[in-house]
Amino acid sequence: MSEVIYRKYRPKTFAEVVGQRPIKVTLQNEVLSGNLAHAYLFVGPRGTGKTTLARLFARSLNCQNKTANSAEPCNACHNCQANLNNQSMDVIEIDAASHTGVENVRENIIANSYVPAFEVGSYKVFVIDEVHMLSKPAFNALLKTLEEPPKKVIFILATTEIHKVPETIISRCQRFDFKKIPSADIVKRLSEIIEWEKVTMAETLLWQIARRSDGCLRDAESLLGQIISLADGQVDDELASLVLPRNNWQEIDDFVAALRMRNLNTALNQIHKLIDEGVDLETLTADLLEYLRHTMLYKILGADYLRDFDDSFRDLLKNQGDGFELSDLHRLLNIVLTKTNQRHYAMIDQLPLELACVEFLLTEAENTKNNTNITSQVTGDGEQDLSVLKNNWDQIVDKLKKVNNSVAAFLKTAHPLTLDQEQLFLGVEYSFHAEQINKPEFILALKQAVHELLKRSVKIELKVDANYLTNHQNFRGRSEEDVDLAVDVFGGEVV
Ligand SMILES: [Zn+2]
Repeated sequence: MSEVIYRKYRPKTFAEVVGQRPIKVTLQNEVLSGNLAHAYLFVGPRGTGKTTLARLFARSLNCQNKTANSAEPCNACHNCQANLNNQSMDVIEIDAASHTGVENVRENIIANSYVPAFEVGSYKVFVIDEVHMLSKPAFNALLKTLEEPPKKVIFILATTEIHKVPETIISRCQRFDFKKIPSADIVKRLSEIIEWEKVTMAETLLWQIARRSDGCLRDAESLLGQIISLADGQVDDELASLVLPRNNWQEIDDFVAALRMRNLNTALNQIHKLIDEGVDLETLTADLLEYLRHTMLYKILGADYLRDFDDSFRDLLKNQGDGFELSDLHRLLNIVLTKTNQRHYAMIDQLPLELACVEFLLTEAENTKNNTNITSQVTGDGEQDLSVLKNNWDQIVDKLKKVNNSVAAFLKTAHPLTLDQEQLFLGVEYSFHAEQINKPEFILALKQAVHELLKRSVKIELKVDANYLTNHQNFRGRSEEDVDLAVDVFGGEVV
């Protein structure tokens, strides 16, 4: 069934081919102008349309009903029909993976290329798939033909591994680089197929298929075919899960959020829960790495990077990325990668993941310890001012409510981190909070309030605190004595 879907809906015109627009346009222009190369090189990942376009190109060249202003084959004439049914005498397809010997190349290609096309006026087209598999003598024989190409003969060489193709061959070809098909295009194509097949299924499932296929349309169509073959017109999540591996993004998101918030307990429980539910550990690890990678790339490249994801997944990555410091994400990804690479040595399957969690929190504790040492050396006299500031923080927040009540609400969630002669650093939980607070008139009023309290001017900087929860808890959990001190300074005006 899966293979049937793939064959059944193989595109018959350039217009139907998914993706690869620049290649399609160039090939059609060459057919129309008659300005053809002797050899073409189609380079790119598997399942991205190389063979499909090679056949289509050959059909376009030999179509008997071609008009002057369209390169689309008619798909009805004798030549088109022969090509569609793989019966054309003039289109010779060779899989180099199974014909690696030089003799085969001589027989099949070199000798045959000097015999005129079977149909009068047709081009003889040789499609050599996986051309990198040819032996060295075979390449040499091919090169000789490319150097003195017979008339009306066209070679289309396709490969997934261009680095294995000799430079002498590459330089004789017009090269086209095929790209992975974007998920959005795959989903669009799958939507068409389920409509033709009269099957209903949720779009989220189509996105799941697209993501699993990693830009390979053939894989996507094959997965869809397998699912449809089980269905009776209606595909639900349960049915899809028989073919598609279970999607754990929400659980992985919860797990990563727990680590971000330094909640080791929740993070470890989440792993155990998933394993108890029978989630395959290899899949879980691969998904976790994929999730962290996307989050990190979003953090660096911005919202544009998420264009190719479905809405729910995009929201997860965006929220997580906005809350994470890039340095922490980088560290976490590295730790997970290193630990899970060692999984084959572990006696307990989930131990590497557990170790990754613990290491993520431990290395941070060490970093913080080092940072604290540095800070206290630098700040010196600032320490006393810092504690005065901390003790009177709520009063400062209250004063600023008069400037802007909603921004003051964000300020209340911030806490003074460090203070030296020139600068006060405030820690916030999310970069979004920093953006809210960092408004010129609000910062000015905040500076004035700090000046009033400390009798000196400082610059105010906001930063996302990697240890937000711990630091904020420590800050909030200050002793009763501290509160008394606050009352003194502001003349007992505690609201
Ligand atoms: Zn035709």
